[in-house]
Amino acid sequence: MTQPAPNPSPVTMWSASSWATWKMCPFKWKLKAEKWGRPRSKTDTRMAVHAMPGLVVDRLFELWLHRREFQDFAWLEANFSMVWNLVESRQKPKWQHEAETAYVQRQTWRSVGILFDLLHKHRLLNAEMGIQTDYHEEIATGISIAGAIDLWTILPNGKLLVVDFKNAGSNSRRSVDQLHFGALALGRLLGREPDEAAYVCFHPQCAGYRKVILRDCDRKKLLARLARATEARKAGTCPAKYSAFSCPRWCEVRFACPTFLARIKSKNSSAEQRASGG
Ligand code: SF4
Repeated sequence: MTQPAPNPSPVTMWSASSWATWKMCPFKWKLKAEKWGRPRSKTDTRMAVHAMPGLVVDRLFELWLHRREFQDFAWLEANFSMVWNLVESRQKPKWQHEAETAYVQRQTWRSVGILFDLLHKHRLLNAEMGIQTDYHEEIATGISIAGAIDLWTILPNGKLLVVDFKNAGSNSRRSVDQLHFGALALGRLLGREPDEAAYVCFHPQCAGYRKVILRDCDRKKLLARLARATEARKAGTCPAKYSAFSCPRWCEVRFACPTFLARIKSKNSSAEQRASGG
């Protein structure tokens, strides 16, 4: 009698953003994966509108680059409002202040001009390039990565470049990991590892093209950390990493987090004790 084939071990998938959340706080990753969190409140208004420039510029340039008429700035101008309205209808809460929305819209339009100029200045647009290239690749036994590469291109000197568009500073470890994800994926998709990597930041306050060295030792560390995190996920070990700075401000699942609630409670009871002179 033939033995049934053993079940292949399940594959654990990471995206660049889920990996960034895990590094910040594994418990937050777990709550988000379980779809905890609260609908946006008035206090989250700024977060909602300030997410729009990145979404609008990404979508507008994706459409524009697919046309492959790279000198055509007029097309961007003609379609900016359409993409803005589309993103706004999904993203902007009804209580958003109109003046703030108008300000962010003007900044976003400036970003469109900045990205257009940078793409031309650094000669990133040519026939041999890929835009918003989706990937889902197994990079080690039982570990896969998924996401999209903003742009990859063959430079005039024949080198392969992987590019990440950014709407904010790009010096963080999170950003470098994201480029490593893209480089690993490109290596599998094209059978060739990128020779160079870069961020193109389109935010008016930090606009620029920044070349990044993707070091092998960092890649090895990233793979080792991913392997450890994958084991922890399988074992259900997702500890909370509390930060007095970021938890109260930026964690959207904080009201489902026992660690956060316990800290608030203990802070309040200490304040009450001090007030009563105890
Ligand atoms: S509030 Fe802090 S500790 Fe709690 S889930 Fe969010 S990031 Fe983690």
